[in-house]
Amino acid sequence: MVCVCVVAGFGNWVVLVMEQQTGKRIVVLSGPSGSGKTTVVRRLVESAPVRLVKSVSATTRPPRPGEVDGDDYWFLTRDQFLQRLQGDAFIEHAEVFSSGFLYGTLWSELDRAWAQGGWAFLEIDVQGALRVVQQYPDAVTIFLRAPSAAEFERRLRSRGTESEEVIQRRLATAAQELQQAERYRYTVVNDRLENAVTEICEILKAEEKARNA
Ligand code: 5GP
Repeated sequence: MVCVCVVAGFGNWVVLVMEQQTGKRIVVLSGPSGSGKTTVVRRLVESAPVRLVKSVSATTRPPRPGEVDGDDYWFLTRDQFLQRLQGDAFIEHAEVFSSGFLYGTLWSELDRAWAQGGWAFLEIDVQGALRVVQQYPDAVTIFLRAPSAAEFERRLRSRGTESEEVIQRRLATAAQELQQAERYRYTVVNDRLENAVTEICEILKAEEKARNA
């Protein structure tokens, strides 16, 4: 959206054409691993009623089998990451799960989404979400949670990809993150995939409508 502001100054009329911050649409989705986030994200990108452009985060974590650079993440060495950090390339960054690995959202990813007239869609952790909101209070924040702690642990274990140590760390992080859920604008319980996706689609439709009003 473009807002035209007319400002008087020294006898001249200065016309400022400003892009309102509301034109810069951001939706942030967080949720502990095991909340079903990855599947929900995929479904939303495919079928959301608004244009979602998934931001590709940068990380120092090594790729998992099948992960593609520039698609799943921008895989960087620690030096590369720190260099970009010094160059102010990130809107936010965090060390996730006390793993020693850094993750961050690049400004260039937001610009890419906005250039396409879409919502920048960030799937990031709670620390990152809070930093984004500090800079864009208008960002739509959604916290996705598994229906119960037991179900959450079951899902985490059923993936069979993580060691017990990692699982324990993720459970501890998840418990902390759950306490932060109230800082999000919306909380969606992923009891059934279809319901969760539909609920998020409704949220996005309403938010888009409010911005177009
Ligand atoms: P994974 O290593 O399993 O792909 O992701 C681990 C966690 O990192 C997820 O909870 C995800 O939300 C978070 N994450 C991914 N990208 C970013 C990012 O750019 N910034 C922050 N703060 N967290 C991220």
